[in-house]
Amino acid sequence: MSGIYIHFPFCKQKCIYCNFYSVASQRQREAYWDALCREMEIRRNFLPAQPIDTLYIGGGTPSLCTPQELEKMLNSLSRFYTFSKDWEFTLEANPEQLTPDYLSSLKLLGINRLSIGVQSFDDRILQLLNRRHTAKEAKEAVLRAAQVGFENLSIDLIYDIAYRTGEQWREELCTALSLPIVHLSAYSLTVEENTLLAKRVARGERYIPEESDTERDYAILEEMTEKAGFEQYEISNFARNRLVSRHNSAYWSGQPYLGLGAAAHSFLRPVRQWNIADISQYIEGILRGNPAVEREELSMDQQYDEMVLLRLRTREGLLLEEVERCFGEEKVRYLRRQLSKVSPTHYELREGRITLTYSGRLFADAVSAELMWA
Ligand code: SF4
Repeated sequence: MSGIYIHFPFCKQKCIYCNFYSVASQRQREAYWDALCREMEIRRNFLPAQPIDTLYIGGGTPSLCTPQELEKMLNSLSRFYTFSKDWEFTLEANPEQLTPDYLSSLKLLGINRLSIGVQSFDDRILQLLNRRHTAKEAKEAVLRAAQVGFENLSIDLIYDIAYRTGEQWREELCTALSLPIVHLSAYSLTVEENTLLAKRVARGERYIPEESDTERDYAILEEMTEKAGFEQYEISNFARNRLVSRHNSAYWSGQPYLGLGAAAHSFLRPVRQWNIADISQYIEGILRGNPAVEREELSMDQQYDEMVLLRLRTREGLLLEEVERCFGEEKVRYLRRQLSKVSPTHYELREGRITLTYSGRLFADAVSAELMWA
């Protein structure tokens, strides 16, 4: 199993919470595409020689790409990589770009999964976050995508925002779950460094709710998704009909992936590397034939930590047998010792598998930190 991620770092405007690498200007777009196509060639031997299972175009706002740009990118990819017949091909999209014609073009290009950045079905919150679409446009975009024949539809929502009551969050979820989607990603609003949100919070503006509201919102999320037939397969991700994100699931299980484009990360155990988060420097590096990349080789302890952190977030959980196979008995003994320091209400240990309970999922980072080596 392996995947390719392509980063398209262009947006129309910056959302206040966003710390993904993107710029609100289209100036270098053409040169960027040329560099991307060149990088595909330069790094064609990075992944093991086997068909690639998933392709994910993220951003930025990849739905700003024209069908011609996407076609050029796919033609270039197919010169250097082979994809499996049942590949998952995801494009991240913002609702305002999903016109019927555009959706039909995406379908013709072979895109079979859309991840639509809805974020909220409340216009007040959308404005607060500086999103460019309305709630009505978001609903219509999802319905149009289904009409055009997209069956594997995912939306993103943000919860845990001050100014929203539990009842309002319920209503938004109700709207989301009534749409023809099979996947939902729900993330709490986080204050990341160097964002407009961080500046506003520092000025004393209130965006983040009380801890009790966070717990309330998360409980509502789990309750309503379960009732609607969604399975929670990762702390923030819910899928119907087993249509999980194969691309992200591969990340969480430590499979290799190649990231192309500015700021894109790649992983091939034990090496992780990432391209420079600067469009000009990225292009210059590629043109020189010497991509600006930083890399780190993960020690066995770091690999163990990564396994703990990622697996505990998933429904499958952390398998003691796998920990022993990868890292030896010492790490299993350590895990068991550390588990005794974690509240037994936060986890279950059954048949050699550690999974988080509801309260554990709320405090997942703290539980993982207890079990990690570093
Ligand atoms: S959240 Fe998405 S659309 Fe908004 S600035 Fe970030 S990458 Fe662009």
